[in-house]
Amino acid sequence: MKKSRGKKIEYSIARGLLSVTEELLFPRRCPVCDRPAPLFGERLCPACAGTLRVVSPPYCFICGRHIEDEKEEYCADCRKKGHIYKRGRALYEYRSVAPSLYRLKYGNRREYAEFYAESMAKRMGEEIRAFHADALIPVPLHKRRLAKRGYNQAELIARRLGARLSIPVETKLVERVRDTAPLKLLGGKERGEVLKNAFKIRKNGVKLKVYMESRNALCQQTLTS
Ligand SMILES: [Zn+2]
Ligand SMILES: [Zn+2]
Repeated sequence: MKKSRGKKIEYSIARGLLSVTEELLFPRRCPVCDRPAPLFGERLCPACAGTLRVVSPPYCFICGRHIEDEKEEYCADCRKKGHIYKRGRALYEYRSVAPSLYRLKYGNRREYAEFYAESMAKRMGEEIRAFHADALIPVPLHKRRLAKRGYNQAELIARRLGARLSIPVETKLVERVRDTAPLKLLGGKERGEVLKNAFKIRKNGVKLKVYMESRNALCQQTLTS
């Protein structure tokens, strides 16, 4: 008993040190306007908080977009065409976070991951836990792209989200075997085809039941239009 308590304390000290180191390397910035944020307290400036638009219910059961008619289960788009995933969920309306996600992905703003993980845990934590998932799997980058960028933004968020929700994060199960062209240049159907061939499951006997966090960097490539 004592031993495990000691371990827990050790673990939380280690996490504390890690986050202090991270804060020094990647100081806090408001993810919307990119201005430096105070070391403690809210990351988001009060003025910027009002610009983020949370997707409100009812949601399309497949892609997670807001739908007007609550009697409908799917949005007009999903009624027309299929997706390669079973279910997606969006936290923010894409347009309101697009510049921020761009900087997170391409501008080395790794510090934003903490904000997104915190928001996801706060607003969608119960929903994510209800899946009783064995693991969170961030969408992998192709190794060439990972070497160039130096980090996978989806993994940064997943690690922080997993720690908050006590769900393990797996990064070795799925590999991106093809470095695809930017998906936004492709139509929905082509995008599905490209994605189907882009990933490989690396462990025998593992079946993935996929739940995607859409438009919030975890799976941004797949679901944004
Ligand atoms: Zn701001
Ligand atoms: Zn839909």
